[in-house]
Amino acid sequence: MGSGPAGMSAALYAARANLEPIVLTGMNLGGQVANTAEVENYPGFPEGIQGPELVDLFQAQAERFGAEFVFDNATEVDFSKRPFKVSSYSGDYQAESLILATGASVRHLGVPGEEEFTGRGVSYCGTCDGHFFQEKDLIVVGGGDSALEEGIFLTRYAKTVTIVHRRDELRGGIYLENKARENPKISFMWDTIVTEIHGDKSVHAVTLQDTKTGEEKEHPIDGVFVFIGHIPNTSLFEGVLDMDERGYLVVDSHMHTNVPGVYAAGEVADPHFQQIVTSAGMGGAAAMEAVDFLEE
Ligand code: NAP
Repeated sequence: MGSGPAGMSAALYAARANLEPIVLTGMNLGGQVANTAEVENYPGFPEGIQGPELVDLFQAQAERFGAEFVFDNATEVDFSKRPFKVSSYSGDYQAESLILATGASVRHLGVPGEEEFTGRGVSYCGTCDGHFFQEKDLIVVGGGDSALEEGIFLTRYAKTVTIVHRRDELRGGIYLENKARENPKISFMWDTIVTEIHGDKSVHAVTLQDTKTGEEKEHPIDGVFVFIGHIPNTSLFEGVLDMDERGYLVVDSHMHTNVPGVYAAGEVADPHFQQIVTSAGMGGAAAMEAVDFLEE
């Protein structure tokens, strides 16, 4: 279940072991990588590679060995007996083993105006929406790698990009931090949160609050890009599979969940690394464990 790097790699390894895996892709084929402009840290591509192109290569490689991709979303999973039953919009599937690679979804700010102006100035994807903001003034909310990477990407189109972060220290890595600091279109606003988004047909301002003094001010802006982390997609597994306090699936070092024959890989089970390369590795490992389980 899932078609990000973890699901794709699991499919490749399972297919090469002649298991004839079915990949229920979810509604966003390729997962978060599909929304990434440039991937510079996946080994094997010294010049970098576009996210959607990497997704195509992942899929082609898994299909070459017989993985079957079904563009569909799981709606319910019955873990109570084997074969496990996975219900989806198009029907039911039976599986002797399951690899859960359902990834994570973007976290929202939860402030007034955010939902109302999503698609009209509020966005969670620079690659998807950046080109609508030619020569515009944008803010990017967040202080992690996504905010930095997407902020840099958005300078291709925008006149200015202000990265608004709730603390005075970034969470993202030094390479992206330096790249952002060197970019003349990017500036930083520290110790600041967005408390409201205003507009009419589209966004024209935000209310910003200084987290130290509590002082609020209105700030004119054309677009708000939000990159404040993710929430693991685990709602289908609640009450059955072990999760940590943040909702990530708990797996052991061999990707085993608490149900024999059910494995989890990638960001749904990884609150820490959340990289394409680590997710791909987890997916391959989960499939190898599934192979052993089925052989036994
Ligand atoms: P992240 O590392 O969890 O960072 C989220 C940022 O949003 C943090 O700076 C956090 O502030 C801030 N934040 C969280 N909730 C907020 C709220 N309600 N209001 C305002 N700010 C809020 O998430 P991410 O940047 O999406 O990265 C996720 C993972 O993917 C990381 O492991 C990252 O390294 C990886 N990634 C890697 C690359 C790359 O290597 N090129 C690119 C993108 C992502 P605090 O810092 O105060 O907590």
